Amino acid sequence: MIPLGALLAKLVDKHRQASTVRCPRCRLYYPRNAARCSHCGVLQGAELTRFLEKLEEDRADIANLGEFFYICGTIVLVIMMLIMAMDGTA
Ligand SMILES: [Zn+2]
Repeated sequence: MIPLGALLAKLVDKHRQASTVRCPRCRLYYPRNAARCSHCGVLQGAELTRFLEKLEEDRADIANLGEFFYICGTIVLVIMMLIMAMDGTA
């Protein structure tokens, strides 16, 4: 699989690094001039754990979506190749 998503994520990361910092707890970005993370800065204990679990679920969903589109693209490609092959013999 072509790591296009990873490449895009890297480009977005580079852009964000200028004005934001990455939180060591939740790995999300927040404004460089903020005292603490705007996503998890006020969360403690069980709340923080729940928030981090939700983030992991979301990241897994996004990864699954990428895989889904990859499979769809492959199916479309195969169908197009079949149509082209049939066109050539007809
Ligand atoms: Zn955070």
